[in-house]
Amino acid sequence: MKILIYPHEILATKADPITEINGEMQGLIDRMIATMYKAEGVGLAANQVGRPIRLLVMDVSPPEERPQPVTIINPVITAQEGTATHEEGCLSVPNYSAKITRPARVEVKGYDRHGREIRMEGEGLVSRCLQHEIDHLNGICFVDRLSPLKKGFFRKKWAKIRPEEDD
Ligand code: ZN
Repeated sequence: MKILIYPHEILATKADPITEINGEMQGLIDRMIATMYKAEGVGLAANQVGRPIRLLVMDVSPPEERPQPVTIINPVITAQEGTATHEEGCLSVPNYSAKITRPARVEVKGYDRHGREIRMEGEGLVSRCLQHEIDHLNGICFVDRLSPLKKGFFRKKWAKIRPEEDD
């Protein structure tokens, strides 16, 4: 699947809740997981492949323990704690990374691909990835979280390095 490049209208769109997990949805999940691995990412939100629906896939396991894909449908952050600053990147903003401050620890509830309720909690990469992907579902890309000054620098740099759109 083609991953949308920032800025794109669908990346800035708040995704709709999913009401039915059907065969089409299973196919979409499989293709998103394959796309995430192919791009060597740790997470992918449905907006990034042009579908503004509340679905994310991720795999934050160490490379030697992959694949352990996790799918979360209609994820909601139910608790958060502390703050942490860490370098972040995004498949929709290739070749760019920046330090972003977020809550250190989060708890997320949602549904797996079989419609069973799941809960994930953690800090470090798990927490950062969950928050980053849920941001996408809310129409927010990590560069939108830069300070106005840093966003100015980002815009100038991005104008030079952003990939050419092929459509
Ligand atoms: Zn991203």
